[in-house]
Amino acid sequence: MDKPKKYLYFFGAGKAEGKAAQRELLGGKGAGLHEMTRIGIPVPPGFTIITDVCTYYYAHRGRYPQGLQREVARGLGRVEKIMGRKFGDPKNPLLVSVRSGARESMPGMMDTVLNLGLNDQTVSGLIALTQNPRFAYDSYRRFVQMYGDVVLGLKPKDKDERDPFEIVLERKKRAQGARFDSDLSAQDLKEIVAEFKAEIKSKLGKDFPEDPHEQLWGAIGAVFGSWNNDRAIAYRELYHIPHTWGTAVNVQAMVFGNMGERCATGVAFTRNPATGEKHFYGEFLVNAQGEDVVAGVRTPRPIAELKEIMPQSHRELQRICKILEKRYKEMQDIEFTIENNRLWMLQTRTGKRTGFAAVRIAVDMVEERIISKEEALLRIEPEHLNQLLRPIFDEADKERAAKEGRILAKGLPAGPGAATGRVVFHAEDAEGWNQRGERVVLCRVETSPDDIRGMQAAQAILTARGGMTSHAALVARQMGKICVAGCEAVDIDYGRREMRVDDVLLREGDWLSVDGSTGEVIRGEVQTLPSEVLQVLIGGTLDPRSSKGYQQFAKLMKWADGVRRIGVRTNTDQPEQARVAMAFGTEGIGLCRTEHMFFEGDRIQAVREMILAEDESGRRRALAKLLPIQRRDFKEILEIMGELPVTIRTLDPPLHEFLPKTEKEIVELAQVMDVPVEALKNKVKVLQEFNPMLGHRGCRLGISYPEITEMQAQAIFEAACLLRQEGKNPFPEVMIPLVGSRQEFHVQRAIVERVAQETMKAFGVKLRYLIGTMIELPRACLVADEIAREAEFFSFGTNDLTQTCLGLSRDDAGKFLPSYIVHGLLPEDPFVSIDRDGVGALMRLALERGRKARRELEVGICGEHGGDPASVAFCHEIGLDYVSCSPYRVPIAKLAAAQASLRRG
Ligand code: ADP
Ligand code: MG
Ligand code: MG
Repeated sequence: MDKPKKYLYFFGAGKAEGKAAQRELLGGKGAGLHEMTRIGIPVPPGFTIITDVCTYYYAHRGRYPQGLQREVARGLGRVEKIMGRKFGDPKNPLLVSVRSGARESMPGMMDTVLNLGLNDQTVSGLIALTQNPRFAYDSYRRFVQMYGDVVLGLKPKDKDERDPFEIVLERKKRAQGARFDSDLSAQDLKEIVAEFKAEIKSKLGKDFPEDPHEQLWGAIGAVFGSWNNDRAIAYRELYHIPHTWGTAVNVQAMVFGNMGERCATGVAFTRNPATGEKHFYGEFLVNAQGEDVVAGVRTPRPIAELKEIMPQSHRELQRICKILEKRYKEMQDIEFTIENNRLWMLQTRTGKRTGFAAVRIAVDMVEERIISKEEALLRIEPEHLNQLLRPIFDEADKERAAKEGRILAKGLPAGPGAATGRVVFHAEDAEGWNQRGERVVLCRVETSPDDIRGMQAAQAILTARGGMTSHAALVARQMGKICVAGCEAVDIDYGRREMRVDDVLLREGDWLSVDGSTGEVIRGEVQTLPSEVLQVLIGGTLDPRSSKGYQQFAKLMKWADGVRRIGVRTNTDQPEQARVAMAFGTEGIGLCRTEHMFFEGDRIQAVREMILAEDESGRRRALAKLLPIQRRDFKEILEIMGELPVTIRTLDPPLHEFLPKTEKEIVELAQVMDVPVEALKNKVKVLQEFNPMLGHRGCRLGISYPEITEMQAQAIFEAACLLRQEGKNPFPEVMIPLVGSRQEFHVQRAIVERVAQETMKAFGVKLRYLIGTMIELPRACLVADEIAREAEFFSFGTNDLTQTCLGLSRDDAGKFLPSYIVHGLLPEDPFVSIDRDGVGALMRLALERGRKARRELEVGICGEHGGDPASVAFCHEIGLDYVSCSPYRVPIAKLAAAQASLRRG
């Protein structure tokens, strides 16, 4: 016969049956209690009922496995022996806490019940033992309240109803003229206990259980039951925690922080969780029990004050923190209670932290030789680096704003960081105000490519509509702008130049603050602090030697560069952004679009002339005007990038995007260009498409109008030749977009190649260059071997590849895609993280076929996915040469790439 299964693990008096590694079995809290006991840290004795019992409980309709009852009785017996007290003994009662504890901490679950085992008899025993009736009734009052709430379920039904126990408590306090709970007398508390019980009887129609064993099993059942309450289920769904895990239950002897002035309870961190600084950080309350510190019944005191009033406990606490950090090699978040100057530990776990703290702690721990560089790299969430780059709100000032009720609404945190500026509603105004030296927040229903320069001029962007992949969000991320998108509560009236958030009215020029890290929109000014990393790298306004934050960031990046195997390039067409990316150590430009350059200043005029030209010679005349402008742009960017590769894409968007849309604009343009209004209108109409995404765009433009490709190639190679003549060594890579067949690529390549040869000959120099293609159609993936015979590089344009592979228009997906993700039809937004099974499979196929035809084929990715850590890991896995992302995401991609190497080898 099998040995009977063990359902209960005991800990106490320096011995524990479990250990830190057994989180699955014991839950996080349990594992911590066992480990602390094992290494000699003072922990009140107790036992853990393992998570399997929870699974069993659900598989057997709320029944417990055989033998559990006997094990619990035996466990209680051992606790009684260590404590020298007996559970339910009216003269010498043992009290326990019943605590839930899943593998991951889960705030949605059952709260802890403290002081279990009290009834009208045992409370007298407690008084006799302690000579402290006030303490005994305080504990009893707390117990009945917690048990009534979390086990019996007497709680407010909705958010408008008040807690029935609080009503009783308030009434008593008022009657006695007491301000705090602590002002109530033993007699008051005794009466409250009776009133609580009466409340339970009248509201629930049942008696409060007086039998301690009934209390205990009631609480154990409530913990298991809470695993499947709505809050817990919702929490697990949000954080992808499997429903099958189950929770453990910890039953533990009580220690009391509420026995008088020599008692206290508190929480602490072994390092500062906000800044990462290496100092002991925390809060405590004298004469209080556990939950009081978090619940805010009284304002807790900073831990430093503990040193003054209980120096011995403070010293002991510091000693234990050191031991725990050494043991776990991680910053710990701990709970403790001091009973008559004796310190007890009640919990330890890895502490949650900000991005700043994450970097600081990881780097410090390497320097303190606690962890290796590799471990440090693996510990930091790549997205966390964002926080180091963004300006931040002064927290104290923000709290003030919250107190004054100035936090108006919350949208999507699309562009992390903090900014304050004056409200404007139009891109033009943003530019105009900016030129006058004003800081502005551009508020739009949504943004479009026309708004680019206004967005650039603004401190922050706020949109009422659109998701995390909306235009505003995308551009904001690329520009490193602060952005809150899709803030539905905002009602904008462009005409009146005002917006409403509920009953608050904001006019143009009013001050507004936007927190892109939290999505909060705040009326008025909130002070900001600039990021130190940017001050050093970009602004040059801070000496790196005086910025610890920068030094640590730089160290981390160096370590990442040391282990990563996939390259990191950037997507940009702006010299300023290219410089930013260089400061972050980019290894080239993976996507330089040329159409943004077309919009700038008066160039759009020449672009429009080109589009409206009647014939080739007209087009060539207009193109000739564009040539010097593009050459200048390319030269500037190529020069900034030095010898690094710069991938320049030939014209991609459909031509109608460059034409005016409104009647007024058309009339104005017709005047300027001296063409009949009707002719212009006609042209706009002719260029209109039913489905522009699949229309006349990409290489199809260059095929219809070869002279466009020719001019662009000429601008690129002349720019490069000019630099060559100056003794520099630029490295352009010309990229043909939206290719679906070898034939398409062939004709475009022929033009570029011819222009390259002619230009080099004319300048009398030799250049390094490549001609390749963007892979963004499923067909291109399927015929990749054919295309690779002529293409020297591939770059996956995963934005369009996702659209064409899934048959899903990104601009229209907002209406239904979110519900797909909620209902689990898609694991993730495929525009944020690469759809591995579909798009990913196409990429693998293209890579395999492409490299078969051309071994040295260079392959990268330039879609927005290049900055998404999970997608970076995928690109590493399938063996791409590089990822390319927006300049401000370069550090994130580097860290993600390093992590991929460390995890996958
Ligand atoms: P949570 O997971 O919500 O923090 P805990 O089980 O950790 O719940 O307990 C809530 C509070 O009660 C904590 O402050 C904890 O330290 C305290 N507490 C739990 N068990 C005991 C005990 N046996 N003696 C004294 N305080 C306790
Ligand atoms: Mg709690
Ligand atoms: Mg806790």
